[in-house]
Amino acid sequence: MIRFALRCRPDRHDFDGWFRSNEDFEAQIARGLVACPVCGSDKVGKALMRPAVSGTKRDGPTPAEIAPAAGTEVAAPPPGTSFANAEPPHPELAKAFARLQALAREVRSKADYVGPKFAEEARRIHYGETEARQIYGEAAPNEVKELLNEGITAMPLPPLPEDKN
Ligand SMILES: [Zn+2]
Repeated sequence: MIRFALRCRPDRHDFDGWFRSNEDFEAQIARGLVACPVCGSDKVGKALMRPAVSGTKRDGPTPAEIAPAAGTEVAAPPPGTSFANAEPPHPELAKAFARLQALAREVRSKADYVGPKFAEEARRIHYGETEARQIYGEAAPNEVKELLNEGITAMPLPPLPEDKN
């Protein structure tokens, strides 16, 4: 004899049924011979196996399954660690910076270096007080802002590796 955990569909009453075999169970169900002892309904089917219904172990990972994952946790970096140079620069950024540096070299080779008088000289060129030419030099951010407000184009030049020498 096999014991099946059964459940009626209308009211979900749980009860046990004894059968000679699974085929015997199927045959009795098909002929409506199995009825719920509580409500008498013959709409009866096998309940889920009890370990799966009552047990919660299958709902989540067991502690043994969690443990390896916890081991992969990345340790927090010590405070003050800088990640700025941890990875190579983005290829596109590196290319753009290289182009800027190339432009800076070209400007320096063709333009007149005017040093810290850049804003003053740029203004004189703009207003026709001196020979029109390309210049480069140093300027404070507020000076550049004033130049731009006056319609004088000024662009920052990136530092070049040779500047460090
Ligand atoms: Zn019932």
